[in-house]
Parts: sequence; structure tokens; C-alpha cells
Amino acid sequence: MSTLALAFDLGGTELRGALVERGGDVVARVSAPTLAVAGSEAVIGQIITLADMLLKEHPQAKVTGIGMCAPGPLDPKAGIVIGPPTLAGWHNVPLIDILSRQFGLPVRLENDANAAALGEWRFGAGRGTGSLVFVTVSTGIGGGVIADGHIYHGRRGLAAEIGHMTITGEGDRCFCGALGCFEAVASGTALGRRATRLTAPGDGSLLRRLSNNGDVSARHVVEAARTGDAAARHLVEAEAKWLGIGFTNLLHLYSPDLIVMGGGLSNGFDLLAPTIRATVEERAMQAYRDVPIVLAELGERAGLVGAASLILWEGEPGTALAMVQDDEPKTGAREVSQG
Ligand SMILES: [Zn+2]
Repeated sequence: MSTLALAFDLGGTELRGALVERGGDVVARVSAPTLAVAGSEAVIGQIITLADMLLKEHPQAKVTGIGMCAPGPLDPKAGIVIGPPTLAGWHNVPLIDILSRQFGLPVRLENDANAAALGEWRFGAGRGTGSLVFVTVSTGIGGGVIADGHIYHGRRGLAAEIGHMTITGEGDRCFCGALGCFEAVASGTALGRRATRLTAPGDGSLLRRLSNNGDVSARHVVEAARTGDAAARHLVEAEAKWLGIGFTNLLHLYSPDLIVMGGGLSNGFDLLAPTIRATVEERAMQAYRDVPIVLAELGERAGLVGAASLILWEGEPGTALAMVQDDEPKTGAREVSQG
């Protein structure tokens, strides 16, 4: 069996683990609902349990390390989860220290959007590019930037918080407290909210029929737009304009070779793309207008395989030098960079 990494994607609702090969193939996977309200010790206990399950089922596996991704804010260099809003009781948790002591293996930590960007760059839609911006549009908007072959981290690993760039002076207040954040106007949540306001329970609209007269979600809007429903099509158009404005900013800021869109709303990418494109062409400076905007390829496994690559591709382009730690070479760890 080839060299593998243990990978974990710690989310607010689900904890997923996998054994991943160097080429990005997932050999085995496990998952559990995250004990998100139970505090960090309980969740770390879950990680250890899932890791033991994977290792027990694959006793032949040559595991060279553990790659983790978790919600930000986190400090990838120090290996500390600072305090994600979706996980109760996590406050400056030294996750790398804890797991490397537990398993005697090198551990790498990255925030989930950066890990997904890395996954798409190495194994998905961004293969072969030097720079890309990955944007995930679902409940919120997150992102990761690969700049000149490295994850762009910025101070304390906090770069690319693109959901909170201000793109307008109007709209609903963002959960962060500010007005006009990209996320507050362009996330799937924002789209669902607009659709809910546009319609009323019992009004007979397709949107309300799809939602059983409850709140309308972004998924309902996409579904209705596919059938040609005029209201839904207008909503999709408005949504795509906001996305196009945000993406134009990203082009000007990072000059990527590619923008990759993932997240729940990307299931409507084909409907959104023409207006995103038109908005970019209208707003971006000439030199940026031909940058492709494409659909992510890896779905929800982008973060897992990206996290695994922190171990399996260490020392190669994409590993920020700041993340390399002073691990003693462990048994097997030397094989990491061999093909
Ligand atoms: Zn915000």
C-alpha cells in the first residue's frame, strides 16, 4: 500500500475523516455528527476515535501524518484553533500539539476554506495553475487564495476572509456586525432571504410550493429557476450580479489564473455563470476580463484531500514555508516526498 495521510475535516455539524493517497484518492472514510456543543475535549475525543477506526481497518497503511482542516479563525503556523463561531468551547486550542502527542505523527492544520482551495488546486478544477481563488458560496461565503504556488496566509493565517469584504452600503447586516459584506448580500442564505421576502405563504408561487409554504431556500430558488419560473430567474440574476461584483474585486486583488466556485450554491452554477461573466466583463479592467470562472470539481471532499496534501506534498509548491514545523523525522515520514 502506498503512503497515506490521515485527514480530518472538522465542521460545525459533521466531523469527517479519511485515509488519503498522494494522488488525492480517498482510500477509506468515516464520519460522525460533530459534538459541537460539547466542547473541544469531546470533539478531540471523536477525532481520536475515528482515527483509531481507520487505522484498525487498514493495519497495512503506511500513515505518515495527519492533515486537519477546521473552521477559522485559526493559526496554521502555531497549530491553534482560535475560536470558531460554530464550535462551542474552543478557545485557543493547541490542536497540533494535542494530536501529534497522541499519535506520534506530524500534524498540519489549515482553515477549511484554504484546505479546500488547496484540494481544488492540486486535485480538482485548479490543476496546473499557479494562482487561484477558491470561493465557497453556501450558508456564508468563504475563500482561499493560492498565490504563486502557495496558500496566501497573511498575518496569523487570517487572509482571504472574502465573505466580509464590503461590497455595498446597503442590505441586511452581516452576522459579523457590518453592513454590506459580500456574504450578507451574496450567500445562499441571502438569496433564500430575498426569495422569502418576495413571496408569501399560500401565494401559490412555485417558490412557496417548493418550500411547502415555509421559508424559501437558495436550493428552492435554483430548482424553480430550472423550470423557467420568472421570479426565480430574476432572483438568480440578482444573485449572479452580486457574485460578479465580488469576483471582480477578487480578480483585481489577487490576479488569479482561475476563480473556482464551490459550496452549496454551486449546484446552480450553470444558471449563475452567464450573469457572473457579464458582470465581470462590465466591471473588471480589461486585463482581467478573460480569467476563467469555473465550477469546483471535488465537492465536499476538497477540504479533506487538501488537508491530506499538507502532509503528503510537504515541501512542494503549495506548502507555505511558515507551516513547516520542527518535527523530528518519524518512522515513515521520510517517504513523504517520494512519488
Ligand atoms: Zn461580515
